[in-house]
Amino acid sequence: MNNMVLKGDIAFTPTKDIMEIHKNSYIIIEEGKVVDICNQLDNSYKGYLLKDFTGKIIIPGFVDLHLHAPQYPNMGLGLDKELIPWLDTYTFPEEGKYDDLDYARKVFSKLIKDLWRFGTTRSVVFSSIHKESTKLLMNMFIASGLGAYVGKVNMDRNTAEELMENTKKSIEDTEEILKECCESDLVKPIVTPRFAPTCSEEMLSKLGELAIKYDVPVQSHLSENTSEVIWVKELFPNSKNYASVYDEFNLLGKTKTIMAHCVYNTDEEIDLMGRNKVYAAHCPYSNYNLSSGIMPVRKYLDKGVPVGLASDISGGNSLSIMDIIGGTIQASKMKWLESNKELQPLTFNEGFFLGTKGGGSFFGEVGSFEKGYDFDALIIDDSSLIGLNELSIEERLQKIIYTGDDRNIIERYVKGIKIEEPFTS
Ligand SMILES: [Zn+2]
Repeated sequence: MNNMVLKGDIAFTPTKDIMEIHKNSYIIIEEGKVVDICNQLDNSYKGYLLKDFTGKIIIPGFVDLHLHAPQYPNMGLGLDKELIPWLDTYTFPEEGKYDDLDYARKVFSKLIKDLWRFGTTRSVVFSSIHKESTKLLMNMFIASGLGAYVGKVNMDRNTAEELMENTKKSIEDTEEILKECCESDLVKPIVTPRFAPTCSEEMLSKLGELAIKYDVPVQSHLSENTSEVIWVKELFPNSKNYASVYDEFNLLGKTKTIMAHCVYNTDEEIDLMGRNKVYAAHCPYSNYNLSSGIMPVRKYLDKGVPVGLASDISGGNSLSIMDIIGGTIQASKMKWLESNKELQPLTFNEGFFLGTKGGGSFFGEVGSFEKGYDFDALIIDDSSLIGLNELSIEERLQKIIYTGDDRNIIERYVKGIKIEEPFTS
């Protein structure tokens, strides 16, 4: 039995336009799921473990829809470059190191510890091309108690020599992971062509087949940067556009799919994503750092495309979804100006929704405290941030997102289990 009651100021966003707030209330958890929120506790919950967080805020855990685990040591490096030179100078040499499992273990334990620290309870992660270190990363996530999708990267052209895969071997390695690593409830594999330019047609076609055969989701990159879009046009002259390259190979929504960046998609491509229910992972910091551009998030929301937020480590320079929620709202304001005030900037509520339920819905009923949702939660002590004026809970939440940091997160839960700091010894 895993039944408990937490008391505190509860806040979550069931939709992008609504913030539900329950001041000084009780949230009831049974078997890891939310069953009710009430302002008085009746006798039926008598035997439940009661945790009293009076004066603290209880919010859903954050969700990061796109990051590269093997790039973690590079976070903050080379960010004065554009995408392709940055990949060649920093990223590919670092990603070449992950046939060394001892090195991989050191990097992954630091990354997972920091995800925990920043309250990211679920993430969707690129590993490298290496099969064994990908399995190691999955096992380390399982040991931590945090939720994740983890993908072994596939690349068989247009990359550094040490990362160039043999197509057949790459597919075999991927299939081995899909067969072996589906046991965990919280950590699962995901098919991960790096992006169209580094995959042959044969590779893309086989990956699409694997995703369908094993019914696993897909992640990749799409329309991050203008030179990349031109390059894809040259490499796939018969495809209508960049998004349709993935679509033609069953990698755009046949199974659940995330495409990172989506800065330069045409309206036609956005419509296609909407029809196929493909998630867009918005990476505002990475898009600034690599001079990629600003994603028109409002357009995606208006067209019904599911959107979540992402750190895109190490194109991005912060693992904190709190920072990224603020950054997302700021980016949307710049886009509003750039669009002659056509694309409305995001509200605070919308930013918070994208960092919790927006990305969380990729995992199922995650990222909110509606009935039946997994209780993935953070307990926030904002006493260091407030005190000068009386604030509403929503205003306190704004302070937390814009001026707080990991020190304000005092407890983390995934599916009703309190997650302790991983890999401390
Ligand atoms: Zn990326």
